[in-house]
Amino acid sequence: MQSLPSEAAPAANDALTALRGVGPALAEKLERLNIRRPEDLLFLLPQRYEDRTRITPVGALRPGQTAVIEVEVALTEVVYRRRRSLLCRVSDGTGQLTLRFFYFSRAQQNGLQRGTKLRAYGTARPGPAGLEMVHPEYRLLAPGRAPALEDRLTPIYPTTEGLQQTRLRGLIQQALDRWLPQIEDWLPGELLADFSLPALDEALAYLHQPPTGADLTELAAGKHPCQRRLALEELLAHHLSLRQLRERARHERATPVPGDAALRDAFFSSLGFELTGGQQQALADIDRDMAQAHPMMRLVQGDVGCGKTVVAAAAALAAVGAGQQVAIMAPTELLAEQHRESFFRWFDPLDVRVGWLSGSLRGKARNLVLQELADGTTQVVVGTHALFQEGVDYRRLGLVIVDEQHRFGVHQRLELMEKGRSGDLRPHQLVMTATPIPRTLAMTLYADLDVSAIRELPPGRQPVQTVALAEARRSDVVARVREACSAGRRAYWVCPLIEDSDLIESQAVESTHKLLTEALDDIPVGLVHGRMKPEQKDRTMKAFAAGELGVLVATTVIEVGVDVPEASLMIIENAERMGLSQLHQLRGRVGRGDAASACVLLYRSPLSRLARERLDTMRRVSDGFELARKDLELRGPGEVLGTRQTGLMQLRVADLIRDADLAAQVQTIGRQLLGAAPAAVEALIHRWVGGAHRFGKV
Ligand code: ADP
Ligand code: MG
Repeated sequence: MQSLPSEAAPAANDALTALRGVGPALAEKLERLNIRRPEDLLFLLPQRYEDRTRITPVGALRPGQTAVIEVEVALTEVVYRRRRSLLCRVSDGTGQLTLRFFYFSRAQQNGLQRGTKLRAYGTARPGPAGLEMVHPEYRLLAPGRAPALEDRLTPIYPTTEGLQQTRLRGLIQQALDRWLPQIEDWLPGELLADFSLPALDEALAYLHQPPTGADLTELAAGKHPCQRRLALEELLAHHLSLRQLRERARHERATPVPGDAALRDAFFSSLGFELTGGQQQALADIDRDMAQAHPMMRLVQGDVGCGKTVVAAAAALAAVGAGQQVAIMAPTELLAEQHRESFFRWFDPLDVRVGWLSGSLRGKARNLVLQELADGTTQVVVGTHALFQEGVDYRRLGLVIVDEQHRFGVHQRLELMEKGRSGDLRPHQLVMTATPIPRTLAMTLYADLDVSAIRELPPGRQPVQTVALAEARRSDVVARVREACSAGRRAYWVCPLIEDSDLIESQAVESTHKLLTEALDDIPVGLVHGRMKPEQKDRTMKAFAAGELGVLVATTVIEVGVDVPEASLMIIENAERMGLSQLHQLRGRVGRGDAASACVLLYRSPLSRLARERLDTMRRVSDGFELARKDLELRGPGEVLGTRQTGLMQLRVADLIRDADLAAQVQTIGRQLLGAAPAAVEALIHRWVGGAHRFGKV
């Protein structure tokens, strides 16, 4: 597509080295923070602020408060309780406090004589003898001298290794001086006035250097009007870029797929069940879209277990009937493998040729698959993102299906569509997700997609009975697993990631595996975790699906999509650490057949109030949409759909949950700009979304 419109500030494209003191090495470090142009520095906002603008009387300090105090030393001593430490008792006439140091020098100790005056900055915490500050920053004050305090709040920026806070602060100061005055505000003034939002330069200046007296609580919560203004602009930019993509797709060509009644009828009659109303509706939407000469861009959203795979299979058959190839991509090898089995089981009797491609496929086997994709022998191929790697060519790819879309980023999806094109024809695309998100958010996040929602589960499903038990009851739970297995049922035992390390996680599952193997003597117990080889994982999963294993100990690798209808008992350890949505995904692995199913949430006491409420909610609520709403309410900003979890969008300022209420404004403003201000649209996308989306150009 076009480059930046000429009326954009030329400075917006200056190289980083235009900053004083920035050479190639520093530029590289900045790029690690996603800063490619000086203007980007303006949008690197402080994570938090320190208030060094005023002195707080010691008597007014509350536990947890971080403040500057000005005090006189009453007593300094070294104590040897548990750990050697230097204690310095200080007071300012309004109250007393202890400064505590674990690391200190003799000189430091000597400097803190009784009667010495000092100014300290630290966080007050309850200690054995009243409030204390551990390792505060401090400086001694010469008699009669009181250096000036800061006149602005001190910004603390997210930084990266080898880039010091003060250095970064200096660079941002340069950007504020030189680039802020020429920054272009692309949001029309009337709009800002309508929504009572500040202008861009005003918002940026304020957020980098809030004045004395700024509301730190509001800033920390991300609710300040200046933050809202930026969040609005960022969400708007993403929204616009998605809308543009969708516009563009309307002008793209795709092969119309009329649908193949014979193949479909044969498929449906082999299933042994009727589609639910929601499945039929989604399929009708898909058929209507695929009959067009433009690429379908449809999202099928539906709770775990609602039967999205069958819908995908029916869509695939339509494409196959029209002589097209279909690629089905899953986020994990485990899930891909499972789809491969389902599709093979369904399609082989229909003489539809199903292929398989994953990252672990190598050598001759891989070459054979590639050849059959290229010559069109393979009609439906299932796999991981390996489906769209270099060297994979399709003869006539007509439909791309992406399962559990929330595991991929928008970018990945776009990239995939780009690779799927042949000549001027694009494949239709169908994406599926079980992440239930509120409608307003869906409109922002999936602005390039049409959405079909499946709101019901297949009939005959029994709700999963859920209980929360303290870990002390583990042996009761083991007994329950034994009972279930003796009755021919199967159980998952999930040990989620509790430390941020694969290694520790696999150790945790390994020891649980050992423990259960011993406790359940004659019942075979399997193990899968992220550090195992894919083939090994697959083998174990298959054994579990086939009933050769009674219990599967697993990490959250089984969270998404795994389908073993005979499994009817799910134990989740450390459930108190997990969010509702994740618990819901895991719980969705049971209750897929017609046996009564149960989920045991094992927790470690004591429970925080929030954790208690979460577990309680899990016990009461089984509807995924309802749980998502509750999750938002309980966890608030960032956690539920935060990019950390989903990779949906890389957001710098906005938070999809916290700022969800901006969605309506985003839509309104988006509509206005798209019609009236194409230059603003381009510039906003360039500023916030950058190049990542832009390869979709023609
Ligand atoms: P998800 O939407 O979570 O991907 P799946 O497609 O894996 O759900 O379906 C869950 C289970 O329900 C599968 O075993 C599938 O065969 C079964 N199923 C799907 N649709 C129906 C239906 N209409 N009636 C009965 N069972 C169904
Ligand atoms: Mg699924």
